[in-house]
Amino acid sequence: MKIDPSRARDRMVDLHIVRRGIDDPRVVEAMRAVPREAFVDPGFEEFAYEDTALSIGEGQTISQPYIVALMMAQAEIEPGDTVLEIGTGSGYAAAVLSRIAAHVYTIERHATLANEARKRFAKLGYDNLDIRIGDGTKGWPEAGPFDAILVAAGGPGVPQALKEQLDLGGHMVIPIGPAGEQRLLKVTRVNATTFEEHDLGGVRFVPLIGEHARKEEPSQPA
Ligand code: SAM
Repeated sequence: MKIDPSRARDRMVDLHIVRRGIDDPRVVEAMRAVPREAFVDPGFEEFAYEDTALSIGEGQTISQPYIVALMMAQAEIEPGDTVLEIGTGSGYAAAVLSRIAAHVYTIERHATLANEARKRFAKLGYDNLDIRIGDGTKGWPEAGPFDAILVAAGGPGVPQALKEQLDLGGHMVIPIGPAGEQRLLKVTRVNATTFEEHDLGGVRFVPLIGEHARKEEPSQPA
């Protein structure tokens, strides 16, 4: 029997997003609206509404829906906000962000993934996103400052360039620590030089690779 994607999506959102305490109505509505099945590799559509990360090539993953929703809710995004995402991957999280923010800038280091994501945005008619191929640890200075920054890969610390590009009062959500042992941090810019940090719990992201993070991809990704 063929699965109805919108029913599967609603069920996933009810079970894994709402029941687990994500109550920001705009995040919940965006998760109900964006077709995650359009962001997974062909043949994996039937797994799109399980609350798990899935492989998308280049040793990378589309993140678990609950974590995507948690990061967005913690970033406290308002409708007029400009948001930066590091680690476009499949483009799914950027697509969800584009439904709750005014404009999304997203950076991916793998050209193959970025090009696929760009095609998906065009196919779905999502036109308030800009995508760049490059090292996201340097941010996107000419588009900042950003009201929120979401980092979808784990590095050793918060890159200085991203701190500088976060607007006053803005929130950054970023996994920090070695593969398999990262903590998800919410970093709030209080003033020009003061940043408050809150630990949101343990997470497992692929590594953040770049000038202001790890230099090399490990031969055996965790
Ligand atoms: N947000 C993605 C989604 O919804 O599919 C999932 C992202 S995946 C967990 C992390 C991504 O970060 C990978 O595609 C990886 O290539 C990318 N990445 C790692 N380091 C990066 C960097 N310095 N700049 C840009 N992208 C980076």
